[in-house]
Amino acid sequence: VTEYKVRIASLPGQGAALLLHFTDITHLREAEDMRRDFVANVSHELRTPLTSVLGFIETLRGPARNDPDAQDRFLAIMEDEARRMNRLISDLLSLSKVEAVERKRPAEQIDLSVLLGSVVAALKPRADDAGNTLEVLRDDAPALVQGDRDQLTQVFLNLAENALKYGGPGKKVTIRLTRGQGRGLPKGETVTVDVIDEGPGIDPLHLPRLTERFYRIDAGRSREMGGTGLGLAIVKHIVNRHRGRLKITSQQGRGSTFSVQFPVD
Ligand code: ADP
Repeated sequence: VTEYKVRIASLPGQGAALLLHFTDITHLREAEDMRRDFVANVSHELRTPLTSVLGFIETLRGPARNDPDAQDRFLAIMEDEARRMNRLISDLLSLSKVEAVERKRPAEQIDLSVLLGSVVAALKPRADDAGNTLEVLRDDAPALVQGDRDQLTQVFLNLAENALKYGGPGKKVTIRLTRGQGRGLPKGETVTVDVIDEGPGIDPLHLPRLTERFYRIDAGRSREMGGTGLGLAIVKHIVNRHRGRLKITSQQGRGSTFSVQFPVD
């Protein structure tokens, strides 16, 4: 997209000149389109549960006024919807926070091996309830990276929660920590965490867009499972901020692997 300005300049003693000034504003337009899409998405995601809550309020005041069973059911639905709005707002705040500080480098020394232990401990009760096996494969040595503890915890919580959600009930989720030597980016010594599920896998068609805000393969299923569509966008921003790399590989019918690789400082 090109924007142009025309100016007529008079040059003393030499008559007039026509000046044409061209500016490539493709990026500006794209940024503007993305911002508009984002606002539209947020509005839609908030309006859906809100409309449902308003509808139930009306029903509780009217037809369900004297029906305690219906009242209980409707209140439970309203609570779910309110929780969904709450999750969405928390995710939006996380996203805007990581986007805002992306340029500053986080400074704390974090042992990823210990951090993964606490992520698994936090998710274990939920995994057990759904009949999932959740295991960590790692050696005993520390895996030190420079980082922000809360944000790195969020990365692995989001990835492991997705693996449990989309992997399906009764399936195994493995979190594996390995060390290596990065040849591309990051260079030098690296530590890699793979979050591996045994779910239905992801069509390669979707892979490049999966980390976009609000991109979901099956929006109905995501919402049903309490998803906001922001989890992987948050992961990508946090990983970038830690000079890391996120790689997604998947085999349909066999499962998916979300790999995060960080440089070791
Ligand atoms: P959501 O809140 O919908 O889970 P995410 O940003 O975390 O949002 O993920 C985006 C989409 O990527 C999900 O809606 C789902 O379709 C897909 N996805 C994420 N993780 C997995 C996985 N482990 N297996 C299959 N699909 C996945």
